[in-house]
Amino acid sequence: MKTMTCKQLGGACEEKFQANSFEEIAEMSKKHGMEMFQKGDVEHLKAMDEMNKLMAKPEDMKVWFENKKKEFDDLPDK
Ligand SMILES: [Zn+2]
Repeated sequence: MKTMTCKQLGGACEEKFQANSFEEIAEMSKKHGMEMFQKGDVEHLKAMDEMNKLMAKPEDMKVWFENKKKEFDDLPDK
C-alpha cells in the first residue's frame, strides 16, 4: 500500500488515500474531489478548476499524469 494526499494529487487538503496502484489512488482522489465539490468547498473548487484547465490540454494532462504516476511509483511500499 502506498499513501498520497489530496494535495499531492492535485487537490486541496491533507486527506490521505491509500492504494496499491496509481489508477486506484487517482480514482479515490477523484471521488473525494467530487464529494468536496458537492459540499461547495472553496479550496477544492479552485483545485478542480485548475485540473479542468489542465484536462483541456491533453498533452499537459498526460505529462501531469506521468509525473504523478512516477511520484507514486517512487513512494516506499508499506
Ligand atoms: Zn481534499
